Amino acid sequence: MKKVHCHKCKTELSNDEIALNLKLLGKHIGTLHCYRCLSVSLRCEADRLEKLAEQYKSSGCLLFQKNYTG
Ligand SMILES: [Zn+2]
Repeated sequence: MKKVHCHKCKTELSNDEIALNLKLLGKHIGTLHCYRCLSVSLRCEADRLEKLAEQYKSSGCLLFQKNYTG
């Protein structure tokens, strides 16, 4: 298992968190953030990001079907 951590607070990231980073910020970003730190830089609620990730996931977005930590 590969572990991915938030660039800012070092929290371990879930697969959905990683996928949302790629979805919102592009596939070539070098730094990944957790929902909380991402919400600060995007100026929105962390809850909203979590729901957004769920939405993308259930709509079949390919980024969310991939396993980033396996
Ligand atoms: Zn963080």
